[in-house]
This record gives sequence, structure tokens and C-alpha cells, in this order.
Amino acid sequence: MTWLDLPADTLFGIDNLPYGVFSTSGDPQRRRLGVAVGEWVLDAGAASRAVGSPDPLLEAVTLDPLLAAGRPAWTRVREALTRWLTEPTFRPVIEPCLVPRADATLHLPFTVGDYVDFYASEHHASNLGRLFRPGSEPLTPNWKHLPIGYHGRSGTVVVSGTPVVRPNGQRKAPADAAPTFGPSRRLDIEAEVGFVVGAGSELGTPVPLADFAEHVFGVCLVNDWSARDIQAWEYVPLGPFLGKSFATSVSPWVVPLDALASARVAPPARDVEPLPYLDDSDSGEAKEPWGLDLALEVRVNGTLVSRPPFSAMYWTPAQMLAHMTVNGASVHPGDLFASGTVSGPERGTEGALIELTWNGERPVELGDGSSRAFLEDGDEVTITATAPGPNGTRIGFGEVTGRILPAR
Ligand code: CA
Repeated sequence: MTWLDLPADTLFGIDNLPYGVFSTSGDPQRRRLGVAVGEWVLDAGAASRAVGSPDPLLEAVTLDPLLAAGRPAWTRVREALTRWLTEPTFRPVIEPCLVPRADATLHLPFTVGDYVDFYASEHHASNLGRLFRPGSEPLTPNWKHLPIGYHGRSGTVVVSGTPVVRPNGQRKAPADAAPTFGPSRRLDIEAEVGFVVGAGSELGTPVPLADFAEHVFGVCLVNDWSARDIQAWEYVPLGPFLGKSFATSVSPWVVPLDALASARVAPPARDVEPLPYLDDSDSGEAKEPWGLDLALEVRVNGTLVSRPPFSAMYWTPAQMLAHMTVNGASVHPGDLFASGTVSGPERGTEGALIELTWNGERPVELGDGSSRAFLEDGDEVTITATAPGPNGTRIGFGEVTGRILPAR
């Protein structure tokens, strides 16, 4: 029990404690590591000083040192934060370190290293296959043998709230004789879940499924903005490039993996037996697969348009990490890998407009009476998520939001 007065249904309860980096309007230049709890942000560095054990990992201005410190440090820090917020003896020194969340400006919480985006939803991959390659098999022959991914552009990963300028590029519809250049006419979202690597791995040595939690620190929300017209023309044969690299938004709170123990679920049944390094079944080495029951919601200008279920993802994040390193490629603190668009099997659970509107043929209705096939300038997209916590509580992820600005 925390000594804080928190409503029972809070999404930032004592069992969550996500990490972020904040500043306040009174001191805008000074970035501090914070932990969200209820309607407050705990200034973690100040708290460590207040209890008489200053911690350099918490006094840092980014999560970078904490990420690099590895699993034993993550456990120690989380236990200390929990103790400070639950044991009444700490209240007099910790309470002054709480800042109202409404007064906190949130920043990109860590230096993003390599960024990889996967394609792990069977429903999304099948829908996109039907839309991009009509007449052929929706899933490519490799899809159920490995989690498909590509290396993205980490330098354009931005924190929630950063405006997104509509990209210019080459667009060519199938019926056009030649491409034209100009602002994307088919700007879309991809609602995804991101995994933040903490402890790195050694070059040449793969990370097995069972070591997922030794390397992955936490989870955030991702919007992989996608210009479908640019993407459709450029993606063969090497995959996504300028249709996605203009901006990728992330939520400012990183929910620690430790907060998601109650959210673990079995992934969907695999109808193709994975190779041993990806085998997370009972017969494999990793006894407990890393399916996660995250419930996403996507809003356009405030209207709820979709509820993608992360539990429906075919490949788990542990399989993504195992595959990403099986060739000996190493991971480093701050690397980010995203799941790919989260789409469920039913209508209204698709994580991208191109699926929700079926290539624009069935526009979604918004609360103001307008409708959208793709995004218009001024539109604001917000993705939120919750997961089951211990004892019937809910774990919140906050939000990742962004507004579209006109092309320049
Ligand atoms: Ca994506």
C-alpha cells in the first residue's frame, strides 16, 4: 500500500512506476529523471538524495545510464522506489519530491540507438498483403518462419507531442504512367508497441529467447507514421525507406518489464513449427513465452477509431530479439525495436487507417461528422494502452500523440 492517496482505478499505480524524463515550467532547462505515480511525477534523483543515498543512475538527465546498468540495477532501483512510496517513514522526505504531472514537460527519455521495426501481426501482414499485392498469397512464404523486420531511422524517433510535417516524395498510383512529386496524399499511422533495450549483448553472440528479460528494460507505445503512396512506389525490393523515415513517435513513459508480469499471456497457436531458436512452446528452451495482453486504443481528433489487441500478435518480443541477434548482431543500451502494426482479427481492431478504411474505400466517421480515408493536415492521432496489473489493477502506458502539419 502506498501512502499516496491514489484512486483504485489509477493507471499509474504503485505497481506500474514507469520511467521518463521531465522538466518543469519553473526550470525548463533542467531535465530530470522521473517516475509517474498517480497524478504526480516523482523526481527520482531528488528522492534518492532526500533519503540520503544519492544514486547516479537516478540523478542522470536521461535513462541511458539506468538502461546500461542491467537487470540487477533495474531490480534494486525499482525496489527502492517502491519502498520510498509505500513505507510511511519515507513520506516526509519523499512527498516534497513529487511534481504535479500537469506541470511536467516530458522529453524523449533515452538516446535511441538502433531502431528496428517488425511486422509481427498476422492480421496486419495479411491485410497489407491483400492491399499491396492483390492476386497473390497475402503472407509471403517466409512469414511464419521468422519475424520479418527492417532497420529504421533512429534519428527521427521523436517524443509524443512533437508535430509531424507531412512528407513530400514520389507518388505513383498503379494506373499512373510515371511518378509525380509532392506531399503524400495517403498519410497513415501504425499503432505499435516498442521494446527498449537496456543491457547490450556481445557482438557475435545471439540472445536466446530465455534471456529476453536480461536485455529488455521496458515497453513504450510507438506510432510508425507511414506515407502509403510513397511506400507503395519505393518498397520493392528493399522494403520501407522514405515512406516511414520522416518521423516515428514514441510515448514518453517507459513501463518497466517488471510491471508487466500479470500481462503475460500465451501467444496464438503457431500453425508452423518454428526453428529451435524461435521455439517458445513447452518443448522449447524458453518455458514461458512473452505474449503480452496490452489493449491499445487509437483516436483521431478525439474519436475512438480502433482497439488493437497486442495479445493477438503472432510473434512475441522475445522472438523478435532472438531473431534480430541470431546472426551475431549485437544490441546496445537504448536500442528500440517495435512490434509492427498491431491489428486484431475483427473490424475495428486494425492498427492502421489503410486497413480500417480498406484502402480508403470505407472512410471512418469522426465525432465532428467528418470522415477520413487518410490523415488531413491538422489531424491529431493519439494511441493509448493498458494492461492487467496485479490484484485487479491496470497498468497504463500513457499516450503517444502527434498532429499533422502541412508539407513544406
Ligand atoms: Ca511499422
